[in-house]
Amino acid sequence: MAGIYIHIPFCKQACHYCNFHFSASTKLLDPMVQAICKEIELQRDFFEAQNTSIDTIYFGGGTPSLLPTDATAQILATIKKHFSLSGQIEITLEANPDDISKEKLIAFKSMGINRLSMGVQSFVDEDLIWMNRAHRSEAAIQAIKLAKEVGIDNISIDLIYGIPTLTD
Ligand code: SF4
Repeated sequence: MAGIYIHIPFCKQACHYCNFHFSASTKLLDPMVQAICKEIELQRDFFEAQNTSIDTIYFGGGTPSLLPTDATAQILATIKKHFSLSGQIEITLEANPDDISKEKLIAFKSMGINRLSMGVQSFVDEDLIWMNRAHRSEAAIQAIKLAKEVGIDNISIDLIYGIPTLTD
């Protein structure tokens, strides 16, 4: 089984618990997208020896939902141009609830994204504030409802357990 992981290293703000690689400045977003596309092109022979097609594409981060949808589409188009995709491909995008709108979800769906990994982390606003998350619980609920409405129903959510605001 072959998969491609694309890391989008930008976030709206720094969550207090985070240990991932990201920048809260989007100044280099465009050059980064161009560099990712170039790297995809340079790696086009990577799976050739196995004569295999791609089963999964995963946009992780950072915050992939922060990208303008035309940038996400450009990256996907570049992958499609240089790799052979399985007919049953799963394309996942990590999304933060505060980035989600109906228009964005429709764009995701139309470019073939069929799974969302939603950064919910908690449904308790006090916890979200402690984490320095950019959204509140209501936004997470709305984002999940909207995704289902537009027909993306393969959704996972991240929840964080063990922060100091929780009891044992
Ligand atoms: S959105 Fe995700 S990657 Fe970005 S700072 Fe928060 S936890 Fe880290």
